[in-house]
Amino acid sequence: MSENINNTTINWSNGHNHPKGKFGNTGIHVMNNNINSSVLKLLDKAEREHDLSIDEIVTLLKVKGDNFTMLCQRADRVRAKYHGKEVHLRGIIEFSNYCHRNCKYCGLRRDNQDLKRYQLTPQEIIEMALEAADLGYKTVVLQSGEDGYDADKIAQIIKEIKEKAGIAITLCVGERDYEEYKLWKESGADRYLLKHEVADPELYHELHPEMVFAERIKRLEWLKELGYQVGSGNITGLPGQDEVIIARDIKLFQELDLDMVGIGPFIPHQNTPLKDRPAGTVEMTLKTVAVTRLLLPLAHIPATTALGTVDPEGRQKALKAGANVVMPNVTATKYRPLYEIYPAKICIGEEAKDCRQCIGGIIASLGRVVSTDYGHSLKHGFR
Ligand code: SF4
Repeated sequence: MSENINNTTINWSNGHNHPKGKFGNTGIHVMNNNINSSVLKLLDKAEREHDLSIDEIVTLLKVKGDNFTMLCQRADRVRAKYHGKEVHLRGIIEFSNYCHRNCKYCGLRRDNQDLKRYQLTPQEIIEMALEAADLGYKTVVLQSGEDGYDADKIAQIIKEIKEKAGIAITLCVGERDYEEYKLWKESGADRYLLKHEVADPELYHELHPEMVFAERIKRLEWLKELGYQVGSGNITGLPGQDEVIIARDIKLFQELDLDMVGIGPFIPHQNTPLKDRPAGTVEMTLKTVAVTRLLLPLAHIPATTALGTVDPEGRQKALKAGANVVMPNVTATKYRPLYEIYPAKICIGEEAKDCRQCIGGIIASLGRVVSTDYGHSLKHGFR
């Protein structure tokens, strides 16, 4: 049973010295202390135990108003405790927009005949990575559609970037064979991102024709076994998704013991079957980020570009709701408009050095600092 506690002062006194009614320097204030006592209990439990049931997560995903603000504050407090003020930058190189898949929400899907396709050469990819390293990036993310880019070439690219720049490398190239993942790990790749997208096998299959949820999970297990730092994630606001499915997404993040979790809103693309469906909301995306932070305190969680696309302040809001990573685009500007998973993506016209400056300014404005560290997983074995 729940009750409202009206006009009370929030008690911050569980081992942290924060001023009443204000959380650190996040800029989030509770204006009207109208906090639901059952929500408060759940937040206490989540912050203490980093675990909740599906039903409890659903309750948090449904909070509104001051309860929503409080959820973000608690997540921000956990972020501060485990990750401090540092924000890690990962420079993304989108090296190919070819894809043989047909995911219903994605502008790179093979049936989108209106998209001009491109694939960068190994030399172009390496040059972009070296430029990112010169700008101070400690990680590059090599990302593409599922284009079947030659595995040996990818291995060579990894080796050369490692030799010349010594930065961390994250791969995000979709579902491949075990032997290919193994080859790239042995070549020096550090991390792999493979979003599971939606933790409901039927809805997953509906949204990803010809693809099977179990195959996705099997690959995430392989990647862990091979020693990668592993990231996954979901999309909030997908047609057919509800709070229970998002709660299952978050439980899956926990079960997989992820090192990184990416959470972004669904944005309809005009050349896909979902073009007329409403976009995911900023609020639900932030709630998902915040609950994920509470339950996975060590995970690296990006303030996604998709969130910055649906709301100009979206990335700042995520950084104040548990996120500790930003992933600026370092691909040459002539290719960026062509990597259109969703439309109106931000920052497609800015040079890599301008993006770096802009992001640095955003991070400083929040009282945070750009990390000079590699930003490896905080878990034992990767530090
Ligand atoms: S989501 Fe990924 S796999 Fe699916 S169509 Fe887009 S690029 Fe291809």
